[in-house]
Amino acid sequence: MVRVPTKLVTWEEIVEWSMGLARVIKESSFRPDVVVAVSRGGYVPARLMCDFLLVDNLVSLQSQHWTEAAKVAEKAIIKFPYKLDLSGQRVLLVDDIVDTGDTLMLARDFILSEWRPAELKIAALQWISPVAKIKPDFYYIEVKEWIWFQYPWTRHEDTVQFIKRILLEERGKEWTYEEIRARFEEGYGIFVGDAYFRLALESLVELGILERRGGTYVAKTV
Ligand code: ADP
Repeated sequence: MVRVPTKLVTWEEIVEWSMGLARVIKESSFRPDVVVAVSRGGYVPARLMCDFLLVDNLVSLQSQHWTEAAKVAEKAIIKFPYKLDLSGQRVLLVDDIVDTGDTLMLARDFILSEWRPAELKIAALQWISPVAKIKPDFYYIEVKEWIWFQYPWTRHEDTVQFIKRILLEERGKEWTYEEIRARFEEGYGIFVGDAYFRLALESLVELGILERRGGTYVAKTV
């Protein structure tokens, strides 16, 4: 049965962690001119860094993992590379979490070679120290054991994926709402609330993965 150690992160925690991260940066001598958000996970933390550090300049760069069809190996790519002149600027590159560090290292290398800032430092709310290939210059929480952080900005898409994994284990089975919810809580150890849960089921029906039969749900077999 699918089981993933997961922690539900609230908006209040995001504000608290971001304020804590901004304090770590303030206590250093680094004063950024430009914040660069690593898209998509770094968007909210980057916007909050601008707020707490009173920085006006915010841009983003999308760096993501990409799986080649039929290949197990994954590599990170810059999705929409573009030109920007950051000469003379001190850049703060912001992400939500440093897990493997792959997407972040790629974003850092791209910015240093293409946008040529005077200086670049990396900030992340969380750093998974045992698995990360890089240590951010600034972080608020060191995570010592891998876990999936269910951030508020991916609550819907994570819920869709999590339910999908449960349903695909037993295709053709007829579930009530309560049964899917109970299995979800058992597998992930969290509950996202009824509004998110119902929205995810609605999306799974729209995606053609789930079929609604009266009061029950059935995962499609094709
Ligand atoms: P990096 O470690 O460079 O951020 P990853 O590919 O490991 O690269 O992660 C990319 C993005 O995926 C993260 O910025 C985050 O948004 C999401 N992510 C990765 N690991 C986790 C995790 N353990 N919990 C929540 N989100 C994660």
